[in-house]
Amino acid sequence: MSKFVFLNTRYVEFKDAKIHIEDRGFQFSDSVYEVIKVINNNLFDFDYHMGRLKYSTKELKFNIKIDNIFFNKIFINLIKKNRLTNGIVYLQITRGEQPREHAYKKNLKPNIIAYTSKKKFNFPNKNFKGYKAITYPDIRWGRPDIKTTSLLANILAASEASNKAAYETILFKNNKITEASHSNVWIIKKNKIITHPATREILKGVTRTLLINIIKSLEINFEEREFSINELYKSDEVFITSTGSLITPIIKIDKIKINNGKIGQVTKFLALSFYKAII
Ligand code: PMP
Repeated sequence: MSKFVFLNTRYVEFKDAKIHIEDRGFQFSDSVYEVIKVINNNLFDFDYHMGRLKYSTKELKFNIKIDNIFFNKIFINLIKKNRLTNGIVYLQITRGEQPREHAYKKNLKPNIIAYTSKKKFNFPNKNFKGYKAITYPDIRWGRPDIKTTSLLANILAASEASNKAAYETILFKNNKITEASHSNVWIIKKNKIITHPATREILKGVTRTLLINIIKSLEINFEEREFSINELYKSDEVFITSTGSLITPIIKIDKIKINNGKIGQVTKFLALSFYKAII
């Protein structure tokens, strides 16, 4: 755990970072967040994360103007203060505090919390790992495109994976795959790469956007479209993307082996291309 936390205006020690019990983030999950990767002491894709944070706070009508310079300074300071080499910066902004009532009052003052944690990334080197995933119904609320801390459905799904010794839970709705509990899902069939379009039904992952840019620049066959559970099971290769997982191969889903339970060539190539583009 990190030593210092940024809390509204100050850097405080972890044990002193306290929030009021009537903070709406605590009582109602009335709160948004971002997770930004740090590799070799460097912060990555800051502008993309700030763009999504602006979207989330705007959609929920939070009383805040996102100032990139302000947040950049905080993140850089935290990386230095907490001596972080590889890991993530976690940022959470709540709507603010008010006596408990469902409807929010306007002009609340948001609470801002940021801290860092260490993380080992699944880099595409000799230790590159493929994992098992399970499937689970997507029972989330209607706006998973907003990055809120309203994550109960994701938590139930992720815990189910954990109980079954799987790495991730792939979510389906009306027989179609949306995304996973904490990542976006991709399939490869006959060398074509397919992922769900960035509609209101999924979170538009920063890693997803970056990978699409790379795929387009390499002129690889790619399509944004919905796909069924059956297509998922019958894919040549499957992988997930997220800030924390980067590009992580999925080699077994429920009881079905993908690519004979081995990491596929296209996934490896994409992971290497992604790694080269960011490092
Ligand atoms: N979907 C969900 C539900 C997630 O929680 C995440 C990770 N926060 C992602 C997709 C991937 O987003 P990103 O690449 O920005 O980390």
